[in-house]
Amino acid sequence: MAKNKQQKAKASKKKTWDLSPAPESTSHVQLKKKYELYIDGKWVKPTSGKYFPSINPGNEEKIADVAHADAKDVDKAVKAARKAYDNVWSKMSGKERGKYLFRIARMIQERAREFAVIESMDGGKPIRESRDVDVPLAANHFFYYAGWADKLEFAFPNRKVEALGVAGQIIPWNFPLLMAAWKIAPALATGNTIVIKPAETTSLTALKLAELIHEAGVPPGVVNVVTGFGDTGAEIVNHPDVNKVAFTGSTNVGKLIQNAIAGTKKKSTLELGGKSANIIFEDAPIDQAVEGIVNGIFFNQGHVCCAGSRLFVQEGVADQVIKKLKNRLDHLYIGDPLDKNTDVGAINSKEQLDTIRKYIEIGKNEGNDIYESSCNMPSKGYFCKPTLVLNVAQSSKLVQEEIFGPVLTVQTFRTVDEVIQKANNTPYGLAAGVWTDKGSKIFNLTGKLRAGVIWANTYNRFDPVSPFGGYKESGFGREGGLHGLEAYVKLA
Ligand code: NAP
Ligand code: MG
Repeated sequence: MAKNKQQKAKASKKKTWDLSPAPESTSHVQLKKKYELYIDGKWVKPTSGKYFPSINPGNEEKIADVAHADAKDVDKAVKAARKAYDNVWSKMSGKERGKYLFRIARMIQERAREFAVIESMDGGKPIRESRDVDVPLAANHFFYYAGWADKLEFAFPNRKVEALGVAGQIIPWNFPLLMAAWKIAPALATGNTIVIKPAETTSLTALKLAELIHEAGVPPGVVNVVTGFGDTGAEIVNHPDVNKVAFTGSTNVGKLIQNAIAGTKKKSTLELGGKSANIIFEDAPIDQAVEGIVNGIFFNQGHVCCAGSRLFVQEGVADQVIKKLKNRLDHLYIGDPLDKNTDVGAINSKEQLDTIRKYIEIGKNEGNDIYESSCNMPSKGYFCKPTLVLNVAQSSKLVQEEIFGPVLTVQTFRTVDEVIQKANNTPYGLAAGVWTDKGSKIFNLTGKLRAGVIWANTYNRFDPVSPFGGYKESGFGREGGLHGLEAYVKLA
């Protein structure tokens, strides 16, 4: 009898929540079968003649072949950037540079749908995210820095402002277009030229951006895009004629880069990993907080450097929050990244999926209480069920290490001091979230949490005006806002 009831409840839940597929059209998307390197305003073949496939993690199919740049190609790109810096870009007025940036921003807006679809195809994130977050924010970054280009003397009053020269920029796979915008816009606004490398698994939107920059009439050599993996990034870092290294990626690679440039005159900013705390107090608006927790870690498969991957719930509301969270997890839509209903898309690569699974296995072996969403799973593609790790110890690997997947550890706390101490007890310090009815509690915590960004009663909100960056092993330097300009200039 009880079993019958359960089956009925399951059937009715399915009925309420089953939505018809609503895939975004791909008919307007223009993709080449093969992408070359964008150097000195031209598409050039890689010296090695080698290409690698870019895969759609939502269906495991190849989208295009992408050129693999080696040391010779990187050298060509740096030389082109140096020539463009010396002859054109450093001599151009800020007002003129700004015009190019405004043009790029407007063209991204015009092609927003195409960029969003390619981002979701190549990287696996739900179209809702790429359409509503990544692409509009990328355009906004160009608009914002376009506005600064002719006002640098107001950004740094009474100082002489000079560009650094050639910037080598290396970006990760979780926000391919947005990270390219974060890097390119302030560098160009301040008069630098660029050699940029996207991540192996997500080169396509950076290459589309190169097409757009070309159409915008940006002079040859000002922006060069070299794709690749393995040594390609290291060749940029080690090139003697690069003046600034801007890196976003893992803490391990960040450390390698710091070692590589030690003792040189190269300037650097490193935006690295995170293990951010999302803290829910008893007086928080619980339903909003639960939605904020889900948004903070699950909507982007946990592929967010500042994901709220450690949940701290005050004891009095822990049972309530966990119950609501489990219910919400069971009703998430996981599947085709191009479907407008999808909440949780594909994991970016098979490699990353294996890493996440390894952590879940460690969690099980540690004896933690693991709760996996009961949502339907697609039969093809790299997908991972949203997962909660309950009753987990502060010392667990799952609490201490960045998993970069839809896995949320859940711990409880009693007092403010206790949660501050636990939240700060990781090697990272990128972001945090606080949910409470009391402004005084928020201000108390913001002063004591060692995190670069703290959100109050919301999570994962970004604005080009607001600087972003970390403490401790989350890196140094800030991107965004006025601070983001400073990273690309010499001040006298
Ligand atoms: P990753 O493995 O460190 O790779 C990042 C980039 O560095 C890729 O383009 C990579 O190329 C390149 N690279 C690899 N080895 C290199 C070397 N020795 N020298 C120079 N470049 C090298 O990171 P990921 O897995 O792509 O991205 C995820 C990480 O990024 C997470 O830790 C996340 O927290 C972090 N992240 C931080 C922020 C932030 O603002 N703090 C923002 C987004 C992401 P290949 O891919 O071709 O190997
Ligand atoms: Mg891909």
